[in-house]
Order: sequence, then structure tokens, then C-alpha cells
Amino acid sequence: TAGSGPQQGRDPRAVLAEVFGYEAFRGEQEAIIRHVIGGGDAVVLMPTGGGKSICYQIPALVCEGTGIVLSPLVALMHDQVAALRLAGVRAAALNSALSLDERREVERQYRAGELDVLYLAPERLSAAGTVELLQQGKIALFAIDEAHCVSQWGHDFRPDYLRLGALAELWPDVPRIALTATATPETHREITERLHLGDAEHFVSSFDRPNIRYRIEPKQNARAQLISFIGGDHSGEAGIVYALSRKRVEQTAKALQDAGVDAVAYHAGLPPEVRERAQNRFLREDGVVVVATIAFGMGIDKPDVRFVAHIDLPKSVEGYYQETGRAGRDGLPSEAWMAYGLADVVQQRQLIESGDGDQATRANQTRHLDQMLGLCEGVGCRRQFLLRYFGEEAAEACGNCDVCLNPPKLWDATVPAQMLLSTIIRTQRERNRTYAAGQHIDVLRGTTSDRVTQMRLDELTTWGIGAKWSVAQWRGIVRHLLATGMLEARGEWGVLAPTEAAKPVLRGAEEVWMREEVLARGAGGGGRAR
Ligand code: ADP
Ligand code: ZN
Repeated sequence: TAGSGPQQGRDPRAVLAEVFGYEAFRGEQEAIIRHVIGGGDAVVLMPTGGGKSICYQIPALVCEGTGIVLSPLVALMHDQVAALRLAGVRAAALNSALSLDERREVERQYRAGELDVLYLAPERLSAAGTVELLQQGKIALFAIDEAHCVSQWGHDFRPDYLRLGALAELWPDVPRIALTATATPETHREITERLHLGDAEHFVSSFDRPNIRYRIEPKQNARAQLISFIGGDHSGEAGIVYALSRKRVEQTAKALQDAGVDAVAYHAGLPPEVRERAQNRFLREDGVVVVATIAFGMGIDKPDVRFVAHIDLPKSVEGYYQETGRAGRDGLPSEAWMAYGLADVVQQRQLIESGDGDQATRANQTRHLDQMLGLCEGVGCRRQFLLRYFGEEAAEACGNCDVCLNPPKLWDATVPAQMLLSTIIRTQRERNRTYAAGQHIDVLRGTTSDRVTQMRLDELTTWGIGAKWSVAQWRGIVRHLLATGMLEARGEWGVLAPTEAAKPVLRGAEEVWMREEVLARGAGGGGRAR
């Protein structure tokens, strides 16, 4: 027929070889592709690098009509379209970057059936005329990429995704395939419900990334630790360093450059041309390290990223897993490295509390943070923790994470934990107020400061009872109690308060075991407590 593509009606394997140059399908790819070609809906959960794109690209080529790809990544559409065109696929994108003439031409091609694949941003669908335009052509399928963006409780929520459910009613006969690399059982349920995929077949791949080695260490001096991590095992290799703020991104990039690392900064506050240059250098040159906020990376396909480093605590395990998943897409050994400290915990609790979310949002953010801390403070295999988090039963300890390779020695921290908890309770009782971690540590260590003298804290009965432990060790203990939920940091100042969970420890009914390493090396820096 007029406008039918050269691959229409062909066998998927032939298309895989001829268009994409691959010998065999991986994992569930072939089953997914055949299901969609057969007209079925699909929900696809596959880790980053698993090969989601061809799951909709091949059906788009083989089936009559155009495959409409809804993707939030307008910035990357251009690259995706260019790559497909190089492979001989008739691809285009409709987005705000086009001139009027260019847009008209893409629309004409679509109506004439001259496109195999058309990329659209989800917000485009609510723009005037888009639905009418789509109705004037033949649609092979809808692919909803990054489908977890529909989850309100996830970390990438995009309101425009909520409207995509309507596709089911507008085009009841067109197969839809939703894909994501981020899905807890909860997000999976939301995708199915909100995108009206009740009749879809579900394809869930294992999320394990066996070639990625996980390492999490206590933060002392994040920048120095990062430099020694990169210099030690990854010098001259490509990597991504994630930091939470723009300022931290810039400072860290500078520190890496000073240390001789080929580093570039990337965050949403930089001019578009600077961002684009950074991204292009990272993608096209060897051994470039991008220091970025989480604005960087979604949809970036660079196979030989040898490490992903976090110098600030990610906000959720989903986010952490998605970010670390950008390492080692080529299957070669890679590392996910993170440094975290007490300041991270306190800062994030405060961000949640001072945020503009409602009660439910805050509770949800707190839960995400607690799970993240559970990973950091945990004394078991990191991979088992992660896979269990995503609803998979991991049989054995993995043998390729810091805990498996170097089982942490544990240390009985019950006595100092009791000291700390009772100091907090007593200050509250005897002074009718309470303080942030630093003041309590001063009291425990018997360190005089203006604040201490002014508040006559040196008259407290717990004054100096914990002098044998350093500030860094005390910070480690505070962080552990925060992470395990025995302490809460409240309000703007991060004032500490024991929770119900602390009671058995105070009574001596429960013990507190910590990583010895945390005590030996401290956490959150030495020096005076703040
Ligand atoms: P995802 O979107 O799941 O992160 P991509 O679709 O970007 O993954 O694929 C990741 C990499 O794997 C890409 O470089 C892609 O070309 C490659 N790839 C996908 N399928 C296959 C296959 N069957 N054989 C070999 N390489 C593949
Ligand atoms: Zn392990």
C-alpha cells in the first residue's frame, strides 16, 4: 500500500538483524515483540540497559502504520530520531523545538503513512489539534516510555501522564505498550491502573545487574573520597557523579578537574548550550566524568559508563537504583559507589519537613528516605536488599558488593546508644528543651562551648559520660539511630527526639549493633560537632 514501510509484515528476527544489526533477542524481547505485533497490550518492566527500545521499535516497523512513542525526554528525542534514521527507519519527532514548516512536514508525512516511528511528548497530546492529527493517519501502536512517570508516589511524577489512560478509549483497537526500568510492585500496579492496561500481558524481567558492584561508605570528606575512588580504580574511565544541589555539582566538578579528572558539570541551571556540550562530550569522547544533579541521565544510552557515584544521599531506593543502573550497560564490570553521612540524613529530613507537600506526601517521602537508609546502614548483602525491594526473591548473597566482599565487623553500640538517648531525654526533662546532634555530643563528650556554658549544660548528670568516643564516632551513632528510626530529627534545627522504637534499647531489652568501620572511621567529618 501507499507509504508502507520496507519492513512491514516481515519476521521480527530479520528486522533485528537487518535494521539493528543484532544476532539474537535478549531476555523477553522476542516474546514482547510478538505479543504486541499480535495486537496485545503489554506492560514491560526491564532494567535500564535491558533493551526496551526495540520492544516497540520493531513492532512499529513490522505493523502497518506509525508507532507513536510517548516519551518525556524531549531533549533526547532528537538523538533517538537521528539514530533510527541512520538505521534506515523513517522516524520523526513532534515537539516544540520544530519550526512551523518543519512541523507541517512531519504532519504531512504522518498523514501520508510515511513514518514508521513518531515521537511525541505526553503534553503534546493535550495540545489543540494533536488528537485530530493522529486520527488522520494509521497508528500501529502506542509506546509509553518511562511509564513510572504516571505514579504520583514515585520520584518522577508527570501530571501529563495521567491523561494517557484516555488512549485506551480513543483508540481501543491500537495495541499499547508501557515500559519502565523503575517499578516497585506498587508502581507496577499504578501503571496498570492509570494507563488502563487491565488486559495487558505483563513482562517482568529480573532487575538484577550482576556486573554492577555496590559499595557504600561513610562520608568523611566526600570530595577527597570521590577523588580517591576515581583515581584508585577508574582513572581515565567514563562515569557519572550525582550530587543534590547545583552548587555541589559545580564545586565537585571543579575539585575533580583540579585533581586531573576530565570532569564536566551538568545541571538544569546551566544554559542549554553548555548542557548540550557536556552531554555530547560525555557521549562521544572517552573517559569523561559528568558531575550532575538527577536532571542528567534519563534516557542516556552510553554503554561503557564504568561507575556511578553518589556523593549525596539519593531520595529513594528507586532513584538510586535507576541512577546506578546507568553503569555497565555493556555488561562489563562496573561500580556503584556512594558516600553518605549524618548530615545527609538530617538535611533530607529537614527538606521533607520544610517542603510544601501535604501530610501524606511527607509521610511518603519519609518512607522513601527510611528505605534508603535501610540500604545504607544494613549489614546484609546490598543486592539482596535491592532485589527484595523490587519484589524479587534473591536466593544467595551476591558475592559482588562491599558487604559480601568485605563483611563488616559488627560492634555492640548498646551502651553509647543508651547514653545518647538518655542524654536527650534528660536535657528535655531538666532544661525543658532539646537540641540538635552537636549539642548532645558536646554534653556527652564534656566539651565546653559558649552554648554549653550559657545553657549550663555542664551541670547535667550525663555531662562527659561519653568522653571515650570521638565526635565522629558519636555522629556515626546518631546517624545509625536516625536511620533505624530510634531517633527523629525535628524542625528546622534538626532537634533530636527518641521514638517508641528507642524504648526497648533504653530498658536494656534490645541491643544496638553497628558496623565497626563506622565507628573507626567516623561519619560526617571529624572536628567539632556542629
Ligand atoms: P533501555 O531502554 O532498556 O535502557 P536500550 O533499548 O537503550 O535499553 O538498549 C540498551 C543497549 O542494548 C542499546 O545499546 C541497544 O542497542 C542494545 N541492545 C538492545 N537489544 C539488543 C540485542 N538483542 N542484542 C544486542 N544489543 C541489544
Ligand atoms: Zn552482596
